[in-house]
Amino acid sequence: MLSLGSRRHHTMALWPFIITSLPKNQIPARVKRHEIIHLRQQIEMLILPFYLWYGLEYLWHRLRHDSYTAYRMISFEREAWANDRRCGYLRRRKPWNWIWLRYDEGLQTD
Ligand SMILES: [Zn+2]
Repeated sequence: MLSLGSRRHHTMALWPFIITSLPKNQIPARVKRHEIIHLRQQIEMLILPFYLWYGLEYLWHRLRHDSYTAYRMISFEREAWANDRRCGYLRRRKPWNWIWLRYDEGLQTD
């Protein structure tokens, strides 16, 4: 859900909005794409269950990892991090794509 435009700025997808501390015209394309992926995931999960799943998956990973690693291991984040640099991804994206990622996908990029 959270994505860093830089170390000082935070951006978050909260259906149907993208909330950011960045000036509107300075949101990097990668950050915008990352948050739009989350908006698509939220629609697929009928909004509220997305946040519940997100929180539970974070807590599950947090049992074994530090907070940043646990955040990056959440399925929704792995899809977003694995694809937010790919310009055509939003056009080609298949619904529920976050379910089908390999477990290590999205963990290497930052
Ligand atoms: Zn995210």
